[in-house]
Amino acid sequence: MARALWRASAGIGAAHEKVVGVDLLRTPTLALVAAGDASGSPDPSVDAVRRLAAERGTALHVCSPASHVETREIRRTNVVSSVVVDAGLWRSRAVQVARGAVAAVSLQVGSPPMRIDEWAAGLLRESGATWALTPSFHVGDAAALDALLAATEQVRMPELVTHLPVDAGVLAPGAIDGFLAALARTRPRPFAFTFTAGGTPFDRPQTLLGLRRLLAVHPGSHVYGVAPLVAADALAHGAGLVSVGPSALAPRAPGVAEVAEGPLPALFLETLLELRSPSDYADWFAGEESPWCDTCAARLDLFDPTDADRAAIARHNAHAVDDLGRWLLAHDPADRAAALAARLADALDAHAALTADLGGAAPVVDATLSALCALETTT
Ligand SMILES: [Zn+2]
Repeated sequence: MARALWRASAGIGAAHEKVVGVDLLRTPTLALVAAGDASGSPDPSVDAVRRLAAERGTALHVCSPASHVETREIRRTNVVSSVVVDAGLWRSRAVQVARGAVAAVSLQVGSPPMRIDEWAAGLLRESGATWALTPSFHVGDAAALDALLAATEQVRMPELVTHLPVDAGVLAPGAIDGFLAALARTRPRPFAFTFTAGGTPFDRPQTLLGLRRLLAVHPGSHVYGVAPLVAADALAHGAGLVSVGPSALAPRAPGVAEVAEGPLPALFLETLLELRSPSDYADWFAGEESPWCDTCAARLDLFDPTDADRAAIARHNAHAVDDLGRWLLAHDPADRAAALAARLADALDAHAALTADLGGAAPVVDATLSALCALETTT
């Protein structure tokens, strides 16, 4: 449905694309998603991410209804890290365009109504955040996209980034032309994208190619809430900031059902570049030496479904994803894509070297890893 709506909008060909992005950040940045749930209850996983960020100066993306309060709390204990404050309204509200009435963003309106820059200035002052995202609702079709772009056209503050929380279908081959055309019709400015889906849209090469094409036209854009490998590929292809969420699943659009989690959160294993249950690793490494993390001084395939072990996984993921980002960004910009491609190939080889008896079946390689490796052989 969404794809058909996107396809209906006017398209432009890749040959006509011009680079219109604004240099949003001097230094590309990897951020970690750090936000509690709406109840405000303490979450050991979030605590682990915040501690890591404070130790290393890693950027944070705080997405929650209480993001300004949480950001202020982070600022109180951590003056080093950059922080993006995101009210996350798009999680529950979609842009409404009906009978001439448009609801695309939420502002605390007074009399006269507050301008979006004034709203952001107050938010940044109150929270101490480095950047604020526009309080955008979710975009599900071409009309909603035009409405949101119009509602945010007056953004002028460099610290306020136009946020487009949009169905990941816009990156598909039949839709990306229309999406780029809509962006080309609006005032050039930095964009932040959150690509929603019911699962893992970046497990298809065409979606990854769509993101690369978007970043080629809008270098310096922010990409929020993606899995580690998608984040790395985006950074290697011009993103200004990426944030990595706690699971491989894409953020959900309003009304999309949550996928049940297993007893343990997924763990990021750097040698295989996988983000999956530790019990999978236990199967894959059966009869071999367990995967080991020097930083955590711990085995990575043996956890119990306890809060302590969930926190241990969160601590490991935070440093491992941060390590991946730092490794990539230590390369010259022109060398990053090739360095990442070589590392992806090594991870694929590491899968092939596993010798566990899985009943004749080889380990199921992460779909995004497979898709990125396939792109290297076809592009
Ligand atoms: Zn570790």
